[in-house]
Amino acid sequence: MDQYDVVIVGAGSSGAYLAKRLAQRGHRVLVIEKLPKTKVGTKYDIFHIEQREFARLGIPRPVKGDAAWAFEFEKNYNADPLTLYPKCQLNHVVGLHMHEYTLLLNAEAEAAGAKILYSCAFEDFMYNEAGKICGVVSRYRGREKKIGARLVADCSGMAAVGRTRLPKDYGIETAPLTDEDMFYVILRYVTLLDPKDYLDGSTFWAYYKSWIAPCADPHGAIIGLGACHSFDYAESVFAEMEKTVPLPPYRLEKIEKGRTPYTRSPYSMVADGFFVSGDAGNLTKSVNGEGVTSSMVQMQLAVNTLDRALKLNKVTRDYMWEINRKYNASQGAEFAMLRALLVGVVNAAGFDEFQYAFESGIISDELLNAMNGAPIPAKTIVAALKGFVCGVASKRLRISTLKAAGAALKNAVEISSHYKRFPASPAGFDAWAEKADEIYNRIGKIR
Ligand SMILES: Cc1cc2nc3c(=O)[nH]c(=O)nc-3n(C[C@H](O)[C@H](O)[C@H](O)COP(=O)(O)OP(=O)(O)OC[C@H]3O[C@@H](n4cnc5c(N)ncnc54)[C@H](O)[C@@H]3O)c2cc1C
Repeated sequence: MDQYDVVIVGAGSSGAYLAKRLAQRGHRVLVIEKLPKTKVGTKYDIFHIEQREFARLGIPRPVKGDAAWAFEFEKNYNADPLTLYPKCQLNHVVGLHMHEYTLLLNAEAEAAGAKILYSCAFEDFMYNEAGKICGVVSRYRGREKKIGARLVADCSGMAAVGRTRLPKDYGIETAPLTDEDMFYVILRYVTLLDPKDYLDGSTFWAYYKSWIAPCADPHGAIIGLGACHSFDYAESVFAEMEKTVPLPPYRLEKIEKGRTPYTRSPYSMVADGFFVSGDAGNLTKSVNGEGVTSSMVQMQLAVNTLDRALKLNKVTRDYMWEINRKYNASQGAEFAMLRALLVGVVNAAGFDEFQYAFESGIISDELLNAMNGAPIPAKTIVAALKGFVCGVASKRLRISTLKAAGAALKNAVEISSHYKRFPASPAGFDAWAEKADEIYNRIGKIR
């Protein structure tokens, strides 16, 4: 039986990123990937990475002419349902081909010393006499293949084949995602029929959770939409959107469908001999369900602890617990806060109220730029407050919506503070999780 320090399940962006970093620290790393190399990263074509993330995360930055590069843009418009008052946020974004970029990350992992076994599917864990993980059972070339490992990392995407296979009392949440915990995303690749409509950036309609963005063809676009429940429901929202949003005339070239987690991550992401990342740990952004770089942020936080745990042979839940604390106190708290705000506001506000928020200046360019770290000028806050007051006086904002927004803000502050107080050791975790559950019950799920 082959023996490794680490077996990583899945050679998507998360598995490859982790493999490189652990191999660089001198660990023997094997990635098992159920797909052949030619199919890795083919679940859809185009995805985005913000320019600033390449340096922050130490990942390759393809440029025009490279196989993985598709396009880039800087203008990100946010629009009201009628698209009368679009706001512009400046943020440099690079569009990449998922297959080619995944291969690039796979090649980096291999160059660092990790081995990748394609067409090898995880089936189950192996446990030692003490009931702790000591490897995996996989299927390779039609045969069962056992591989020993001190740490197994589940990077298998939203199926979370490792996490959901663990015994319920193993010390980590094992429930699979439900239809309410994910976005069903439909991408329409189109050719724009009128040159005056060629895109200089993307536009996002929060009311419909939909967007139009550039694609590899400068004369084309991707019209996307994400919704919970089902693809049918997403299509029904798209039909509603087409009634109000003045989409440019287009010819449909192809449709891609995919799903992405839209729920909180497990409170703990470690267990004895086990670590979870990527979509398998629901590490997607709570603003839009994107998960490539947000997962890398978690792994960047985790890698020193994983390295030490392996070197000291302490690959236990207790020793690796600081990964939970570091993550939950930082990106975890930020995502929890945004989720609470978005769920509360999006679920409560009606069409006319969304329309009013853009028209009145409650939502402004400055406010949106602040989401990327720019300071909010005092006049922006004053304008937003004036918008609220006038909205209530003119009955364009319902009191019930304001109350819901107030409750969302309270929940957002509460859940964020709670995450920042994540216990430093497993002692106290049960009480912490109980309280977090209680706040999440109040937050609810996005409709
Ligand atoms: C339409 C759409 C558009 C998106 N756009 C963006 C975007 O612009 N930017 C962004 O950051 N995110 C985006 N996302 C989300 C992003 O795609 C995911 O968050 C990200 O790909 C997750 O990477 P991962 O490595 O965790 O999982 P995956 O990419 O799903 O990789 C998991 C790997 O595990 C393998 N695997 C599964 N089961 C087994 C098994 N039993 N044994 C071995 N291997 C197994 C799979 O074959 C796969 O290769 C989008 C999602 C969708 C659906």
